[in-house]
Amino acid sequence: MEKILIIDDSPVQANILKSILKDEYAITTAHTAEEGLQFAKTGEFSLILLDIIMPQVDGFMLLKTLQEEIVTQHIPVILITSLSGIQNEERGLTLGAVDYITKPYNPPIVRARVHTHIKLFQYRTQIEREAMVDQLTGVANRRRYDMSSVKKWQEAIRLRVPFSVCMFDIDKFKVYNDTFGHPAGDKVIAAVAGAAASMLRRNTDFFARYGGEEFVAIILGNSAESAFQHLIQIRKSVESLQIPHNPEVSQWVTVSIGGVTVLPQLETPYDTYLKIADTMLYDAKRYGRNQVVWSSEKMEQWRER
Ligand code: GH3
Ligand code: MG
Ligand code: MG
Repeated sequence: MEKILIIDDSPVQANILKSILKDEYAITTAHTAEEGLQFAKTGEFSLILLDIIMPQVDGFMLLKTLQEEIVTQHIPVILITSLSGIQNEERGLTLGAVDYITKPYNPPIVRARVHTHIKLFQYRTQIEREAMVDQLTGVANRRRYDMSSVKKWQEAIRLRVPFSVCMFDIDKFKVYNDTFGHPAGDKVIAAVAGAAASMLRRNTDFFARYGGEEFVAIILGNSAESAFQHLIQIRKSVESLQIPHNPEVSQWVTVSIGGVTVLPQLETPYDTYLKIADTMLYDAKRYGRNQVVWSSEKMEQWRER
């Protein structure tokens, strides 16, 4: 059931609205702008019904705040008014309200308008979610990575925990495509992503398709030694999928992985470490592929073999 937040200083008015909608939606009511803002920030709501006339902070002021806050600006707001007049309508819509309902309520109209905006919200949420997922593999895509990587970095700085980033690249994949065809290659990319993603399931882990046959992972909280060991397990799990490669290259499809663990500091930008991971990957290829190469907290290079 979708959640709707009603913000109205009058409990009587709020309850009338609630009674119109409560069979189809989970309703929460707030009676001041401050209380309403606190509820809205929980991120649980799909729609806010906001009374314009309230003491102290009125609906227009709260609407402006809701539009400015990153955590609330995506929530559609319908203004409730007993005021008539084009200026209020204009002002509300200019500030970003999606619609108006007027007191006294006409229940079928209220339900119809709410229903429309809930549907639009659901539709938009679904599109946004899909825009962040790689179609072929079902893991996070490059766009989501671009949005999440720096956030993860800042989270590690704030929590003062080790931060690891690593790059994966499927070995001799051009040969695979040339031998077995592009559609078979696509299945391999999906299988490799599935194997890696299943071992990066903590909510502090992040895994994405970086592009083509390359992936990127971010791990928070593990020491260099434990991140390195974990990536060795992931590399082994890809090998143990036992996907036959062109025998002139290798028996099975494998990946090379390059990574780095650091205690993040504000002065060093995230990109510096991504570049180090990339250099480690390059070395893993150079040393013979199907292996993990890691740069420790002290910038020592660790090789799997
Ligand atoms: P290396 O071991 O050095 O990584 O060799 P490689 O052949 O994997 O490296 P290279 O970067 O030369 O080739 C990557 C290949 O990956 C080339 C490209 O055709 C293939 N590839 C990239 N994206 C896709 C995709 O979405 N589907 C398929 N099937 N192949 C892809
Ligand atoms: Mg590549
Ligand atoms: Mg490759």
